[in-house]
Amino acid sequence: MASMTESADKNIAAAANRTALTILRDVYGYDSFRGRQAEIIEQTVAGRDTLVLMPTGGGKSLCYQIPALLMPGCAIVISPLIALMEDQVAALKENGVRAAMLNSSVSPKQQSDVVSQLLRGGLDLLYVAPERLLTDQFLDILSKTSICLFAIDEAHCVSQWGHDFRPEYLALSQIHKRFPEIPRMALTATADERTRVEIVERLNLANAEVFVDSFDRPNIKYQIHLKDSPGQQLIDFVSENHPTSSGIVYCLSRKKTESVAEMLRRSGRIALPYHAGLSQDERRENQTRFLREDGVIVVATIAFGMGIDKPDVRFVAHIDLPKSIEAYYQETGRAGRDGLASDAWMVYGMVDAITHRSFIDQSDSDEAHKRVERGKLNALIGLCESTNCRRQVLLQYFGDVHIGACGNCDTCLTPIDTWDGTLAARKALFLTRATEQRFGTQHLIDILLGQPNERITRFGHNTLSAFGKGKELSDREWHSVFRQLIASGYLTVDFERYGSITLTEKSASVLENKQSVQLRKDPAKVRKSSKSKSARTVVQLSSGDDELFEALKAKRREIAISHGVPPYVIFHDTTLKAIAQAKPSTLAEFSRLPGVGEKKLESYGKVFIEVIAQRLG
Ligand code: ADP
Ligand code: ZN
Repeated sequence: MASMTESADKNIAAAANRTALTILRDVYGYDSFRGRQAEIIEQTVAGRDTLVLMPTGGGKSLCYQIPALLMPGCAIVISPLIALMEDQVAALKENGVRAAMLNSSVSPKQQSDVVSQLLRGGLDLLYVAPERLLTDQFLDILSKTSICLFAIDEAHCVSQWGHDFRPEYLALSQIHKRFPEIPRMALTATADERTRVEIVERLNLANAEVFVDSFDRPNIKYQIHLKDSPGQQLIDFVSENHPTSSGIVYCLSRKKTESVAEMLRRSGRIALPYHAGLSQDERRENQTRFLREDGVIVVATIAFGMGIDKPDVRFVAHIDLPKSIEAYYQETGRAGRDGLASDAWMVYGMVDAITHRSFIDQSDSDEAHKRVERGKLNALIGLCESTNCRRQVLLQYFGDVHIGACGNCDTCLTPIDTWDGTLAARKALFLTRATEQRFGTQHLIDILLGQPNERITRFGHNTLSAFGKGKELSDREWHSVFRQLIASGYLTVDFERYGSITLTEKSASVLENKQSVQLRKDPAKVRKSSKSKSARTVVQLSSGDDELFEALKAKRREIAISHGVPPYVIFHDTTLKAIAQAKPSTLAEFSRLPGVGEKKLESYGKVFIEVIAQRLG
């Protein structure tokens, strides 16, 4: 039973007549709901199960946090990663919400405090790791208290096809059997149909109301360039566009993460590697620095990033090809959660695609699995080779449409020239057939260019009619032709036979001259990336405001350090920019800024107003 004193500091939403909208304003300091947030909250409060599919940064957390504040009892949030829980709980506490977490990083003493708080009815939200939730002991505790909602975050972790598969997630269907009357909400940013079906099946959500938001991330600018000297291309991109901002660089091997981090350090940046070969302590340390310091770049294998809630990651760079569009979209989605302009930048070469193909072919998976993986890889290569708006191609892959070209991707900003490559394609295919599909790209190109070498002579290829019949194109241009023919399935690479180029079913139509082939013109070497265009949401600061913004940031850093939380938990950049621009001099003015709820107004209004007064005075 809650005592009188306890109910005084009780549920901040319990005060008379709180509605979803008043909570949004008073607790979070936002004016209106985004997308379908309001509907999702309404359905949940009405006791229905829901499945929420929204892109990263779309605002999923509010969908379960607000019902938790509206309904009597505690909401249980199942979340796979400790860092994510820590951030969310810290952010909720800053907003005056009674939140706590249980996971392996919490001391036994704190754990028992949390449990007694829960049993007293003193919590609105409790974050738990999936393995903990399903222990008999914890289920027993839950049955003794009032629970209003189970929110299953990162629900795609149930998918065995996905790269974030977590076996503990499969057991989560049990909670429904045990607590059939309590509504559940599953949330994910992974949008493809297969994963969606798996979530519904494995979590018993057949009767759930499904909410799919548009997956577009308009503030992210997509760029995919040809790889020639990836390290230098990366340094150029970063120094030109992001001289001080924090970002993530993905590559495939541990060794490369180390060497690229070193390169970035030599160019004057703070860059830290992150991969499975580092000790747990090193990984934790590097992740913490990334979250808490300004301007850190992490160079990582894909092991990094899930559950990273950092809102101000300004760029995500890939210097190696990820393995699918899903992975690419999820990784690039870590940029710009705060809605400010951000970059997704990638360099790609055919060698990457071939490496992935051989990984798939040589893996132990069954043929059905391999087929799916190959299909996914091909879709990604299609994106890289596309001459259309990247955003359109991406969204289409997820069954979403983008009306018209986006104007914020490389192909929109610098339209790609195409040329009629039919004749070149026919030359390439005929030569592949004439040499019995037993040779690699470079050998075939040398024949086309009429460049004799020992191997060509040994096989008598200097006597072929094709010898020297491709001099209209350069070596680099022929590589582009072969790359595109492989990407679009007119040729393939045979790994059983040392990477020789072979014909496919599709080849016949070109050989028989029934099919024309349009190819893209590769841009001249190392195209410098154009500067990021600002997203609609960005507040551009004048230079005086910029200085104020820096001063506000310094104050924020000071507070964050003393509270032991990342800076963005105090205020997001969007809020600091709004402060710098509006320069409030009273608490009433301060309270009207986005991201300023009642609790933060009380905690920080005065200090930040003082910073402004000092600067202006
Ligand atoms: P997700 O979990 O979907 O990646 P979050 O819940 O972390 O996204 O939300 C992303 C950002 O958007 C957060 O900074 C959050 O405070 C902000 N946000 C969410 N809903 C709204 C809203 N209705 N108005 C303004 N900002 C919002
Ligand atoms: Zn575009």
